[in-house]
Amino acid sequence: MAEAQFRFYEELNDFLPPERRRQDIRYEIRERETVKHAIEACGVPHAEVELILVNGKSVGFAYIIQEDDRISVYPQFETMDISPLLNVRDQPLRNPRFIADVHLGGLAKYLRMLGFDTLYSESSTDEEIAAVSSREKRIVLTRDRDLLMHKIITHGRFIRATRIRDQLIEVVEYLDLSRNFSPFSRCMECNTKLVPVNKEQIMDKLPADTQSYYTQFSMCTFCDRIYWQGSHYRRMNRFITEIFGNNNDNAAVF
Ligand SMILES: [Zn+2]
Repeated sequence: MAEAQFRFYEELNDFLPPERRRQDIRYEIRERETVKHAIEACGVPHAEVELILVNGKSVGFAYIIQEDDRISVYPQFETMDISPLLNVRDQPLRNPRFIADVHLGGLAKYLRMLGFDTLYSESSTDEEIAAVSSREKRIVLTRDRDLLMHKIITHGRFIRATRIRDQLIEVVEYLDLSRNFSPFSRCMECNTKLVPVNKEQIMDKLPADTQSYYTQFSMCTFCDRIYWQGSHYRRMNRFITEIFGNNNDNAAVF
């Protein structure tokens, strides 16, 4: 019976049963089995895998496993640039854009607050999420491991944290996004980019106290929501500073 040896690194171990974590795993190979198939048979969604080394050489998902191969499987790297080594897919995604599953509406809003393009609908099916992620090259954020095993999804993250605040920290740290913040530049409700707007144009839509206290406004051209630096803005700003430090220098001025 032909066997190969697997080792999963870092957080990919989260998907393994406790007794198989952080150690060499003997794996019985089927005939002409791809490394992608074997990785998922071990329980690890391919969308979280960034690098596969077989006997020290980088291979793609379609690699056919040979007897006695030693296979090391790595997740997305946060700090080390491994792009010269990558064979799994064409290239890592730059300027990441997201699509969140139906369980992650809160996280989606907070990512938008930081300026990240994040699609979310409470009625999306797994098939729709997979199709949009593939078509628009969006990273799938999900609490459902099976969704990440969808064939056409290339980049995804199984969100470990359960509290929204921790989920946001998890995504920012996972993709090292803290330098890419553009807070308050995007509508938290519908994901559309905000545009500055003159007070005179929107005067009739503002509460009376806001009319007199604030001078800078921005607006969502899709859902007509108006944003200004009121108590909500200050609360959000405090939240960003609290969890990420002073990374919000690029906050949109409106
Ligand atoms: Zn909007």
